[in-house]
Amino acid sequence: MSWSGSLPARRSAAEVALPAGERRTGQDGPVWPDWFPGDPRRAALLCDFDGTLAPIVDDPATSQPLPGVVEILVELSGRLGVVGVVSGRPADFLVSRLRMPGGRRPAPDETPSRGSGTSATHRPSATHRASGIDRSSGTDRLSGTDRLSGTEKSDRVKLVGLYGLERALPDGRTERPAEAERWLPMFAGLAKAAEHDAPRGAVVELKGLTLALHWRTADDPSEARSWAEAFVRRAVSEHRLDSHGGRMSIELRPLYRADKGTVVEDLARESAVACFVGDDLGDLPAFDALDRLEAAGTRVVRVAVDSTEAPAPLLRRADLVVGGPEGVLPLLRQLL
Ligand SMILES: [Mg+2]
Repeated sequence: MSWSGSLPARRSAAEVALPAGERRTGQDGPVWPDWFPGDPRRAALLCDFDGTLAPIVDDPATSQPLPGVVEILVELSGRLGVVGVVSGRPADFLVSRLRMPGGRRPAPDETPSRGSGTSATHRPSATHRASGIDRSSGTDRLSGTDRLSGTEKSDRVKLVGLYGLERALPDGRTERPAEAERWLPMFAGLAKAAEHDAPRGAVVELKGLTLALHWRTADDPSEARSWAEAFVRRAVSEHRLDSHGGRMSIELRPLYRADKGTVVEDLARESAVACFVGDDLGDLPAFDALDRLEAAGTRVVRVAVDSTEAPAPLLRRADLVVGGPEGVLPLLRQLL
């Protein structure tokens, strides 16, 4: 379906979403939805995980994507130029939740570039070459995708963790910056100190290269929030760290030039249309990146996932607002 002109003002999910499994059809078959303009082969679809593809749960370790999410992402990866999940979770967590089982083994030339500081997405992998996918071209990306197996399509779903600090390689291994070796013991130490001091019911989540403190399940959430914020202030002043607020949580991260915005720009830079779907403050840099891509001529779609905890700036800046992860699924199905 061709598309021209500007996107209409912000719309609700009810205006664009169809019941699960339904597609708009025209004389020539299924119609590409107008909220996602442009050629699918030159489109990038990037999604947050928690609160977007997975419901928010009390214990972060038990989070699971909604049924159907993995299958939809895998199918979309065979249809769209770029499909990815960009999350604050570790890359290996994303692999465990979103990769199809039976991934292929690493090729001999796919040693992760620990120590080089470079990222896997800057370095075409053996899978890309073997699948006939040319990352240097925005138009040839889908050559041969019809012949890909489900596992190979699953490998094409980009999984970027810890706000860009980690990337899952096609074989499931994780690539990290060179500085990771130094950061790992520091965050482990901070986690130990936090666990020792944490108020009852607060959750200390060590993610390897970041540390999140949650007060959602604390006996006294207000007291736990004050404790978490004071702990983070101290850690920031004693170490070279950054802090970021989230949904009933606060997170310590290394000072490193990576956030969801740098990831979105990297993954979508060759795309003609780019869409990001997110629900939280940590997703605002992704919207910032879409602004920059738009200024450079890319068509963009900012999708906010609404909830009682949705930050107002995210909702204000969205082109489209959907209700919870349950609202995201029918939207994505329209792209199949
Ligand atoms: Mg989220």
